[in-house]
Amino acid sequence: MPDLFKVSKFGGTSMADAAAMRRCANIVKGDPDKKIIVVSATAGTTNLLSEFATDIPTEQRIAISKQIRDKHLSICHELKHPGNVLKNVDILCDELEAIATRKQIMTLMLRDEIFSFGERLSSVIFKAILEEATGDRIHLFDARDAIITDNNFGSAEPDIEVISEKCPALLEALVMESRVVTQGFIGSDKKGVTTTLGRGGSDYSAALFAEAMNADVLEIWTDVTAIYTTDPRIAGDARPITEISFDEAAELSVFGAKVLHPATMVPAIRKNIRVYVGSSIHPEKPGTWIVKETRQKPVIRAISLRRNQTLLTVHSLDMLHRHGFLAKFFQVLANYKISVDLVTTSEVSVALTLDSDLNAPGNKKLTEKVLNELRSFCEVDIEDKLSLIALIGNNLDTTAGLSGPVFGALEDVNIRMICHGASSHNLCFLVAENEAEEVVRVLHKKFISES
Ligand code: ADP
Ligand code: ASP
Ligand code: MG
Repeated sequence: MPDLFKVSKFGGTSMADAAAMRRCANIVKGDPDKKIIVVSATAGTTNLLSEFATDIPTEQRIAISKQIRDKHLSICHELKHPGNVLKNVDILCDELEAIATRKQIMTLMLRDEIFSFGERLSSVIFKAILEEATGDRIHLFDARDAIITDNNFGSAEPDIEVISEKCPALLEALVMESRVVTQGFIGSDKKGVTTTLGRGGSDYSAALFAEAMNADVLEIWTDVTAIYTTDPRIAGDARPITEISFDEAAELSVFGAKVLHPATMVPAIRKNIRVYVGSSIHPEKPGTWIVKETRQKPVIRAISLRRNQTLLTVHSLDMLHRHGFLAKFFQVLANYKISVDLVTTSEVSVALTLDSDLNAPGNKKLTEKVLNELRSFCEVDIEDKLSLIALIGNNLDTTAGLSGPVFGALEDVNIRMICHGASSHNLCFLVAENEAEEVVRVLHKKFISES
C-alpha cells in the first residue's frame, strides 16, 4: 500500500470535454497518492439519459443516443491515439442505440441500466486521457463488480459489508501496480443487475471506495473552488470555507447543498477519512478541508437551501391525552416506504416534511391510497411549493438569543415550520419557494457577511 492513499472524484463539469478532462488528468498526474479515480458522466449526459428513459417515441430515443455518441466521439478525436477508445465508445453507443430501438416497458431497472452508460462512457475516455497525460498504464475498473447494493433501483442502498470485502480483494493488487479509473453513481445488486445510487451519487460512490480501501483522504473535485458559506449561485457574497467539521458538512449536504451528495459524509465519518473539496478548473485555489474537529466553531458557518418540499399536517382530537396515535400515523407512512425529514408535533396535530419530488425513482408517492388511509383516522392537509432553509453551525441548540435576531430579520416572511433543538448543528425552517432565495440572501448578509 502507498504511504498516503487518496480516492479522487471528478464530477460532471470536470468531465465536460477533452480540455476539462485534461485538466483533471494533470491534477492526478501531479500527485502519486491519487490511486483511485472515480468519474461522473460527462456534463449533461445523465440528464440526456434521463430523458431517453422517459416515455418518448423511438425516433427521439435514437436522436438522443446519436447526440451522446457524437459528443463522446468528438472528445475521443482529440486524443493522440484514439483508435482503441473510439472502438470501445462505439461498442457502448451501439448498445445504447439497441436499447433505443427495442420495444419494451420502461422499468426502474431498465432506467438504471440506461443511466450507467454515462459513467461507463466517461470512464473509458478518461482512462485514455490519463494514460496520455501520465505515460503510465491505467487500469479501468467496473464499479459494478465492487459497489454491491440492494435492488431498490434509482436509489439503491449499498451493502457496506460486501463492498468492504470486494474492494480490497479486487483493487489492492491493481493499485499496487498503477492507478485505477472507475465509475461513480453505478453499482449492481446481488444478481449482477445494474443499479444506481441516486442523482449526484458519484460523491457517495467515491466515499464508499475510500471507506472500503481505508483511504486517508477523499477528494471531491468540482466546479466551485470550495464549499461556500451558501450556494454561490444564490448569494454573490458567499465565501469559501477553509475548514468545516464532518457533522456540519453532513448537515449541509442533507439540507440541500448540492456540492456533496447527502450520503457522502456517512462512510467518511465511519472511517474518519478527511475530505477535501476543490476546483478542477482552479486547482491552485484553496479548497475546503472537512475534518472531525475544526479549530474554529462558529455558531453559524453556512446556510443551505433544499427545494421542493411538501408539508403534511394531520390533526386529530384522538391525540389529546391518548397514546398510540403517533405510532399508528408513522406506521402508515412506513408501510408505504415514505421517508420523512422533519417532524413537529402539538397536542392535536403533527406536521412533517417530505421531498415533493416523489416521482423520483425509488421514492414512493404520497398517493390517494396513503392519504385515504390517513384520513380514516385523522384530518389531513398538504401544502407544497415550499423550501427548507437551514442555518448550519455549532451549538445552535444552546446558544441564547439566536432565534430572536434570525426570525426578526424575516419579519415579513411567512414561516411555515421551525425545527430547533434536535441537532446542535442546525436550525431550520420552511418558507414559500418563491421567497426562499431572498431569505437566504438576507440571512447570509446579516449573519455571515456582516458578522
Ligand atoms: P459535480 O458535477 O462536480 O458533482 P455539482 O453540480 O453536483 O458538481 O455540485 C457543485 C455545485 O453545488 C456548485 O456549482 C454550486 O452551485 C452548488 N452548491 C450548492 N451549495 C453550495 C455550497 N454551499 N458551496 C459550494 N457549492 C454549492
Ligand atoms: N452522473 C450522475 C448524475 O448526474 C451522478 C453524478 O454526477 O454524481 O446524477
Ligand atoms: Mg454532484
